[in-house]
Amino acid sequence: MNDIKLALLGSQGAGKSAVLVRFLTRRFIGEYASNANSLYHKRLSIDGRQLNLEVFDPCSQSSEARCILEEPVDWADGFVVVYNISDRTSFLNAKNILQQIREARMDNCKGSEASQELGVPVCLVGNKQDLCHARQVREDEGRCLAQENRCQFQEVSASESYQDIAGLFNLLIRQVMDH
Ligand code: GDP
Repeated sequence: MNDIKLALLGSQGAGKSAVLVRFLTRRFIGEYASNANSLYHKRLSIDGRQLNLEVFDPCSQSSEARCILEEPVDWADGFVVVYNISDRTSFLNAKNILQQIREARMDNCKGSEASQELGVPVCLVGNKQDLCHARQVREDEGRCLAQENRCQFQEVSASESYQDIAGLFNLLIRQVMDH
């Protein structure tokens, strides 16, 4: 596979655009005009393979998982589900989104074994790790939720670090390539 499509999902303000821009440019830009859906393209080389990466960053005007999910759920080969560790509501929304992904993907492949698996590579991301003084979601809660859904998990700070974010995208892309 040479084309890989990823989508970012999560509450408005969780830092989806910041995480994505950090990955694409290595930079943190404080504010984004996020009133439109955005599709980003990047050419990558992973394990010697040339890839065309497309990443969909929906404008999330609503915290309703159903609404956020409508467009990218069939389109994407993998998902980055982002919450803000200093906002419990965004974590609960991430939980809903994982549930919605499972339901949507199970509808698409009826007859396949019903399991906890999401049917598509996903990384759950707890962003704003730099705000740990205002933490509302413990790291083990994020890890537990990821384990329940058999997906990857990473806490990151888009404002402070590139390495963890690059690592999670690279891992997710490899999972999509193997999927
Ligand atoms: P989105 O609506 O999920 O795309 O969220 P944005 O990427 O637009 O970020 C929302 C706000 O959170 C902006 O003011 C960002 O500057 C801020 N933000 C994003 N990531 C971080 C982070 O890692 N740490 C801190 N402290 N603020 C962040």
